[in-house]
Amino acid sequence: MVEKALFQFCGNTRKYIGQAVFINCIRLLANILFSFMFASVLSYFILNKYIFDLKLSFGLILLSLIVRQVCIRLASQKNSLVIHEVKHNLRKAIYEKVLSMGTLYQEKLTTQEIVHLGVEGVEQLENYFGAYLTQFYYSFISTFILFLVIAPINIWVAVVLLVLAPMIPLFLLLILKIVKGVQKKYWSKYADVGNLFLDSLQGLTTLKVFKADGYRAKELDEMAEGFRKETMKVLSMQLNSIMIIDWIAYGGAAAGVIVALNQFVTGNISDYQLIAIFLLIADFFVPMRTLTALFHIAMTGVTASEKMLEFLNESEDVEYGEEVYEKNSDIVIRDMDYFYQDGTHALKNLNMKFLSGEMTALVGPSGCGKSTLASVIASEYRQPKNSIYYGSKEVFSLAKGEISKNIIRITHDGHIFQGTVRSNLILGNDKATEKEMIEVLEKVSLWEVFSKLDGLDTEVLSQGKNLSGGQAQRLSLARALLHDAQVYIFDEATSNIDVESEEVIIKIIEEISKKKTVIYISHRLQSVVNADNIYVLKKGEIVESGKHDELMKLKGHYESLFSRQEELESYRKRGGLDE
Ligand code: ADP
Repeated sequence: MVEKALFQFCGNTRKYIGQAVFINCIRLLANILFSFMFASVLSYFILNKYIFDLKLSFGLILLSLIVRQVCIRLASQKNSLVIHEVKHNLRKAIYEKVLSMGTLYQEKLTTQEIVHLGVEGVEQLENYFGAYLTQFYYSFISTFILFLVIAPINIWVAVVLLVLAPMIPLFLLLILKIVKGVQKKYWSKYADVGNLFLDSLQGLTTLKVFKADGYRAKELDEMAEGFRKETMKVLSMQLNSIMIIDWIAYGGAAAGVIVALNQFVTGNISDYQLIAIFLLIADFFVPMRTLTALFHIAMTGVTASEKMLEFLNESEDVEYGEEVYEKNSDIVIRDMDYFYQDGTHALKNLNMKFLSGEMTALVGPSGCGKSTLASVIASEYRQPKNSIYYGSKEVFSLAKGEISKNIIRITHDGHIFQGTVRSNLILGNDKATEKEMIEVLEKVSLWEVFSKLDGLDTEVLSQGKNLSGGQAQRLSLARALLHDAQVYIFDEATSNIDVESEEVIIKIIEEISKKKTVIYISHRLQSVVNADNIYVLKKGEIVESGKHDELMKLKGHYESLFSRQEELESYRKRGGLDE
């Protein structure tokens, strides 16, 4: 009923919950004082018995009411602190975990799932920490305090109440397993609907183009209906258990009243004590009943947190060394295999060399493993041990962050962030001067565009939506150039762009390859003819390697791919594909 594992990510939560419980106990003491004083006043007016001084009784009643109000306020302040602490620390923990895992987090969860956990998941824990936990501890302590108060008056009443009140949490414990099972299904349906909705929203234009929006809407409808049914199951389970708890609570209170009456009849307690016990009985069961109401809401959060904990506790099982990346060093791959999480054997027994100051090309049919290899080299995927060497250093002997600092993979859809040209460039190198930024923009032939607008302060929209595809790609390249990495991997970086941009980018790639290690991936073989070395991949294996002329002479896989593309190209030039 208490998920201790969550505490480690929640900062000072424990302290604030302790304080809230303490404040609630003071409120309970005020309630007890109120009950005795009120009983004393009633005794005076109904039975004409004088227990405590009337003025003192009224004074203490007033004092207890004031203390009660103050305590309620203070406890709610503490609960707000708990909520703040939990939300802040959990979101920070998730964020830091994502950062520390780098792109590896994608192996565990999709970006949508991470967003869902960080927003909805954390939100759901608000009730668990902010209300349920305080109530949980308070319920038990209050039962004990009330027992200590009633026991000196009459031990039988106290014992009966002490035995019956914990029946409520015991019952909750009994149904915890069922509750968790139902909540788990509910939460997973909730996440599924959310993910599908987000995915549909992002791909709405595509859905409209293919007129598939109706079909997707039907799919969403079905999923939402499934979610509704799960919600109903959760609600009916909650109502049923609350009903049972009510029976226990009211039954327990009734049992307490009966025993107290019996003790009164046999003369073991006075009429004043009987009234006081009647008033106190409510306090025995109210906290437990509140606990039940909170229990169900809180368990939704706990179920949500299971995935979160799994992710936060995910061991990165990567031990980094201390070494720094050697400048101008070659990359050597020895007997490397790579498997995706689902078991796909994407790369098989690779032995390769990527020399510094040269351009090495990777070619092969779609799906042969080019991007996978590029991502493994750039450490975006979990790297196999003792297979990849940067200079003389095995990958795991390098210090954390060395690879991402020195190797850049540029894809055809490098993300452009909402902001300005400057804010995007600064991501590449936060120490870059204005002069350097302008120089690099000139290099990628973008300065003539931006200088006519607001220069470096020209606004750009997320994903470069107010730029052409080629301009966005050139801006992404400019940012990469500013980073001044050791290795540049161009992964289909010239796909889907205009000829003018393609020419600019290819010229820059050739220039960089004279000084740095360049790995060039392109499905257009015409653009790799000048590469210093070409690896031909097929189904994750290297089938050929060498320079363009050597590979052509082999009349093997490369030659056949190249000739087919040539044919297609000349067919297109003759206008065949334009028709
Ligand atoms: P290429 O870049 O040569 O077109 P990829 O490297 O993208 O090929 O893919 C290589 C193989 O790995 C393909 O069979 C593809 O289906 C598979 N693959 C790619 N990404 C994943 C993934 N995240 N999980 C499982 N298999 C994948």
